[in-house]
Amino acid sequence: MTEQRLPLDAAETLAAAVLRASGAGSDPAAHTARMLARADLDGIASHGLSRLPAYAAQLRAGKLKGAASPSLSRPAAATIAVDADDGLAYPAIALGLSWMASLLPAQGVVACGVRNSHHAGALGLFAEDLAREAGAFVLAFTNSPAAIAPAGSGTPLFGTNPIAFACPMAGRAPLVIDLSLSVAARGRIMVAAQKGEPIPEGWAVDSAGAPTTDAKAALAGAMLPIGGDKGAALVLAVELLTAALTASHAGFEASSFFDDKGGPPRIGQSFLAIAPGAVGGTAEAVAARVTAITARVLAEPGVRLPGDRRLQVRARNAAEGIPYPQALLATLRDLAGA
Ligand code: NDP
Repeated sequence: MTEQRLPLDAAETLAAAVLRASGAGSDPAAHTARMLARADLDGIASHGLSRLPAYAAQLRAGKLKGAASPSLSRPAAATIAVDADDGLAYPAIALGLSWMASLLPAQGVVACGVRNSHHAGALGLFAEDLAREAGAFVLAFTNSPAAIAPAGSGTPLFGTNPIAFACPMAGRAPLVIDLSLSVAARGRIMVAAQKGEPIPEGWAVDSAGAPTTDAKAALAGAMLPIGGDKGAALVLAVELLTAALTASHAGFEASSFFDDKGGPPRIGQSFLAIAPGAVGGTAEAVAARVTAITARVLAEPGVRLPGDRRLQVRARNAAEGIPYPQALLATLRDLAGA
């Protein structure tokens, strides 16, 4: 497939134009475009501009509210509740995270929930930003439409429910761990289906519960969780931390992120930030422990830290441009009316 490399800014400009042409306001379009382009910059193509045709269709159908106005309340001193108003998730999350950063120094720990929300893309980017801007240890969770079956069942009920962790590291970018609880993120199977490529064994079962390497059959069936039955239990924990805690739809109640059918997905996100020094060691001691622990890990031959591959991809794409399939760019330019 022929590719064209775009600088980050050009990818962002194109994405924002698609969103505005589809009915999103300038501010949500700008926030969303930035985060989708950043996902592509990090090589996370399944949560980058490839999502725009689906977002555009949902904006046009009213499944995503283009003129949504996220609102925020403060139920307790250290908690933030954001209502995304059935709009794009990124501006709603940005609102919550900016409050988290400002409250953290006084509170030591801050939690934020986002409800009436939508696809949040590469979750690790939010955790990374908060770790960098607030110097915090961060946990981030989102649920997503049904993809994984509970242990013992072949019926998908819950999402691929990613978890992201980030913490500051002295003298370098934050450490970021960002993983879906399915063996593979559903978006990667979506990309394989779009390209007509097979998926590896062990990623999914078909609708009859049989193992499959056919990406389309996998999308109609269920994703397999990491770690077997224990992974399925973690999927339930994330569902409860998001859908239950923020009073949002569970995976089995949420409409698809990928088409314009049904009402808004109304899923939820949860974020927790803990300031170094808030629960024991001083900030200096915590930083020293992070350095010592990660240095010991890196002393093992052939070992790298989670997130460091993405940082390498980020640096390369920042220098050379982000590679996009020509066909995707043609579709996006069409959607943008360019
Ligand atoms: P990956 O399987 O690519 O990576 C999972 C994590 O493991 C990363 O932090 C990765 O670091 C780390 N890792 C992998 N291999 C190694 C290694 N050899 N040594 C050290 N660390 C390693 O991620 P997923 O496919 O699970 O998720 C991709 C993206 O999809 C994520 O951004 C996730 O948030 C997003 N997603 C979003 C959803 C949504 O609804 N919004 C749903 C599902 C997923 P590194 O990246 O550096 O390799």
